Amino acid sequence: MHNKDDHIMDSPDVMTVEELAGLMNTRWAGKNIVYYDATDSTNLRIKQLGREGAPHGTLAVAEQQAAGRGRRGRSWESPAGCGIYMSILLRPDIEPDKAPMLTLVAACSVAESLQDLCTGNMQVQIKWPNDIIISGKKLAGILTEMNVRAGKVDYVVVGMGINVNIADFPEKIRKTATSLRIESGRRIERAPVIAAVMERLEADYRIFMRTQDLSGLMDAYSRMLVNKDRDVLILGEKEQYRAHALGITPMGELIVRRGNGAEEKIRAGEVSVRGVYGYV
Ligand code: ATP
Repeated sequence: MHNKDDHIMDSPDVMTVEELAGLMNTRWAGKNIVYYDATDSTNLRIKQLGREGAPHGTLAVAEQQAAGRGRRGRSWESPAGCGIYMSILLRPDIEPDKAPMLTLVAACSVAESLQDLCTGNMQVQIKWPNDIIISGKKLAGILTEMNVRAGKVDYVVVGMGINVNIADFPEKIRKTATSLRIESGRRIERAPVIAAVMERLEADYRIFMRTQDLSGLMDAYSRMLVNKDRDVLILGEKEQYRAHALGITPMGELIVRRGNGAEEKIRAGEVSVRGVYGYV
């Protein structure tokens, strides 16, 4: 929805670290905030802070990213002042093969908190494993990276990009991307969104760490899973095929049924999933 005040609403919404810190209602998630007017990528900043020994829960927030990143070398559009570009440092005492599940934990937290903030009839969904969707378009993305030392997780970086007040997207993603502003027709302050995501992430992380799998979050995740009970295209490195998505396992794999009836579990990181007729 556009109106004649668009040029006013497009001016960047100013967010200060003091305002953000004042809103943070958590014990550890986002309690230590590192704020950048501009940076290359908040994931790269948090990796460096991780190497330097920064505490669990340290949050990097940037007004803009010159080299925002997606999975497998893709890029993340990060225009100044109208999106949330943030990465959190986690130091879970878990085996490295469990760390990819944190992508789904964060997807759950981002989706749940955005759903809470969205008034009216907007439905926030998750495209397995890591994309947050409204109206069939991508509203937010999550990029998880980890560092392993002596066979154990040293730290995990969870990067979150949320399109808040972006009014228009570059041509190449115009059909698949959306923002809270485009969907709601109004401008939304970013700091309370960040605080809400941190609060939810702290709670969901606790649930995850109890069992070190997704059994405590599966119901919530599955309710929001846009691919559930739909035909999907699985785009792998070697193979691309059509299948029917049934849901996720407690380890975060996507369960699909192939045309020949065989069921298989797909691990996140290996593939991209698309709808048969479009993005979801
Ligand atoms: P997809 O199925 O969308 O390719 P993915 O998980 O493999 O999902 P990501 O790595 O999460 O992709 O995100 C990178 C991709 O998202 C880019 O290749 C681009 O198509 C798209 N993209 C980049 N910036 C944005 C943005 N701000 N909002 C929505 N989509 C974006």
